[in-house]
Amino acid sequence: KRRFPNEPEYHQAVEEVLSTIEEVYNQHPEFDRYNLIERLCIPDRIFSFRVTWVDDQGRVQTNMGYRVQHNNAIGPYKGGIRFHSSVNPSILKFLAFEQTFKNALTTLPMGGGKGGSDFSPKGKSDMEIMRFCQAFVTELWRYIGPDTDVPAGDIGVGGREVSYMYGMYKKLARENTGTFTGKGLEFGGSLIRPEATGYGNVYFLLEMLKTRGIDLKGKVVTVSGSGNVAQYTVQKLISLGAKVVTMSDSDGYIYDPDGIDEKKLAYIFELKNLYRGRIREYAEEYGCKYVEGGRPWGEKCDIAMPSATQNELDGDDARTLLANGCFAVSEGANMPSTPEAIEQFLAAKILYAPGKAANAGGVSVSGLEMTQNSMKISWTAEEVDQKLKQIMHDIHEQCTRYGKESDTYTNYVKGANIAGFMKVAKAMMAQGIL
Ligand code: NDP
Repeated sequence: KRRFPNEPEYHQAVEEVLSTIEEVYNQHPEFDRYNLIERLCIPDRIFSFRVTWVDDQGRVQTNMGYRVQHNNAIGPYKGGIRFHSSVNPSILKFLAFEQTFKNALTTLPMGGGKGGSDFSPKGKSDMEIMRFCQAFVTELWRYIGPDTDVPAGDIGVGGREVSYMYGMYKKLARENTGTFTGKGLEFGGSLIRPEATGYGNVYFLLEMLKTRGIDLKGKVVTVSGSGNVAQYTVQKLISLGAKVVTMSDSDGYIYDPDGIDEKKLAYIFELKNLYRGRIREYAEEYGCKYVEGGRPWGEKCDIAMPSATQNELDGDDARTLLANGCFAVSEGANMPSTPEAIEQFLAAKILYAPGKAANAGGVSVSGLEMTQNSMKISWTAEEVDQKLKQIMHDIHEQCTRYGKESDTYTNYVKGANIAGFMKVAKAMMAQGIL
């Protein structure tokens, strides 16, 4: 905190990990000799740069651009790019820190990184988005490469933005090695990549439910967000017979007591991905409740899947969820629950999966996209989906190994943090003091 003042999100992410690994850390004096904590709390390097671009009115605009290369002990830096007005070094450092441990859990050889800009894509034309992405990459391209740092999407960055960035990258770097993941299918993208984070989160949820013999069918689920992660979370939940009653965006949430069915979800895909509209329009279309400025955690549910952004579920929300009988929370977003909310979930011993375990499906399929690009082949959707299921199963196993407290209770926060940390720590020690 002395070294990095004014970085609340970063402190929050670091404190959560450090508080859960203390016990194992103290059992290994060599970790301390290698000063692993300090080395892991200071990113390898951070690039920051000005991005200059021209809007549709011919005005010259500037934004900040960043890439945080946190740790590459187990593979090339890997992590998404976020475009959102709130982006700052604290947020990107927390995301890169989390990413390092998440990537360690995936079983694939990937280090952790994250990048982005305070550019807000909201209300921008397609040409403005393209010009911004191109300008962003004219700086970023020097720091990335297929074996050094492989960016992907995140909030505000989907297939369209990744493709624009990749196009510019290729032109500058004069190579076709697939340095971004989440690309279009025609030029090296992987099947199931768009679905991977949402599907993976549901696969992880199924693993957790299995430990208590609970069937997902018929369960009422509240989901937040209506972007990439939320959309495919809802799609998978519906296909498995769950009833999803909420979705949201930064303006508010909709509550549909009849459940969002496949037809209504198709409307949301079109609304969000084609017209880039607001979730409010769903309520107008289907005549259900819309709560302006609200978050969905007050609605009664069995399972909650926060899939929008960090700190979107606080202590009061957690208390309300628990009072309403919610018995499982699986995080699609990164760090959506505040420390106070996590405390509530752990005290109540519900099935609670932190994002670094539950949403690791996205980066896992990004890792599989890197493999396909290197091998110059494409796997079928069934092959990728099968591998994704296996990876989520393996992540669940690792959490259980380090976090199991009884036959019916696993502390997944502790399990995920220790499993991720142990792998990175061993790799760092083996490679010497760098
Ligand atoms: P999208 O940009 O596709 O969607 C984000 C959704 O969250 C939108 O509905 C957006 O609403 C809402 N949202 C964003 N910021 C806020 C905010 N400050 N308050 C309330 N709502 C907000 O992003 P993704 O779906 O890709 O990402 C969602 C979360 O999942 C993030 O935490 C991301 O880091 C995490 N994640 C994503 C992965 C991926 O593969 N994409 C992988 C692993 C984690 P609006 O449109 O109004 O901004």
